[in-house]
Amino acid sequence: MTTIIDNIQLDYNDVLIQPKRTTLNSRKEANIIRNFKFKYYKNTLEATGITVANMATTGTFEMAKAMIKLNGITCLQKHYSEEDIIKFFKENPNNTVFISTGIKDDEFEKTCRILDTGLVDKVCVDIANGYIPNLVKFVKRLREKYDNNILIMAGNVVTSDMTQELILNGADLVKIGIGPGSACITRKITGVGRPQLSAVMECADSAHGMNGMICADGGCTCPGDIVKAFAGGADFVMLGGMLAGSKEAEGEIITKEGKELKLFYGMSSQYAQNKHWGKMNSYRASEGRVVEIPYTGPVEIKIEEIYGGIRSAMTYIGARRLKDIPKCTTFYKVNRQLNEVFAK
Ligand code: 5GP
Repeated sequence: MTTIIDNIQLDYNDVLIQPKRTTLNSRKEANIIRNFKFKYYKNTLEATGITVANMATTGTFEMAKAMIKLNGITCLQKHYSEEDIIKFFKENPNNTVFISTGIKDDEFEKTCRILDTGLVDKVCVDIANGYIPNLVKFVKRLREKYDNNILIMAGNVVTSDMTQELILNGADLVKIGIGPGSACITRKITGVGRPQLSAVMECADSAHGMNGMICADGGCTCPGDIVKAFAGGADFVMLGGMLAGSKEAEGEIITKEGKELKLFYGMSSQYAQNKHWGKMNSYRASEGRVVEIPYTGPVEIKIEEIYGGIRSAMTYIGARRLKDIPKCTTFYKVNRQLNEVFAK
């Protein structure tokens, strides 16, 4: 018999955070830089946890350069050539940039050749459906080859079982999110997915129980959503659409009816498949779309707005450190329609 999970599943829009008596007098007292320690990777990482998505539009070299200065993380898009990636890391020795890879054999080899240069030690293994057994195998292979010398992020999944499976097989960090992305139509095309806040809360709890961490990936449309992701237990929060209008994102600025816009497309959209793979395989349906989004100038502007929102939220709830946010949080479950109206 088909089973149904009856517990209500929540998105960021379904909650608000309760303000609380606080010991902080000013936003300046809120520290948004965290010193991350991992289950396998031997080094620590100092950053804010804000992570740029490895989408072709956002995971650019220019974005990575800007984010280094802002203590943010970038997962580079995977279509850059090996030579260009190596050149980038030679010219920009840094600690907050991941390379990205899929799970094919040639991608494993490319990843190893890049890691073997010793110029970078962080990898994001990213496929749309993280339930595929070959993802676990790929992560295990990488972990066995490089032991505790590399940081591995892997995904995407939305349930405890696969979060734990990936961590047990070598992931330090599991990427959570199926279907919440702003350029994503997976839920429409396949009917599969899970409301993002519930996914984040459950997977964070499972990961933390075994010294793993999670990255909440997709569905953030404003700084408040990012705060809610941290509040739900996310250690890192990955952003695509919110940063895709930046100067550092791929593509020219287009002017339409006096408005400056940039093209943002889902990585499994027909547009992306044609652009990056030269064709779309007939067995695949497009699970992404192309959107025109307003140009927002240098990414620093958006990031400072996000950091301001996080600091202010921390002041409202009495969290001095980023990692204190969940334990200082009580969510109100709210009427989503009204929340969306008032948020405008
Ligand atoms: P956003 O911050 O724009 O809401 O979400 C970004 C995330 O959407 C990415 O990190 C990635 O996980 C997901 N994503 C990117 N392209 C596609 C796509 O074509 N289809 C689907 N289903 N998800 C996508």
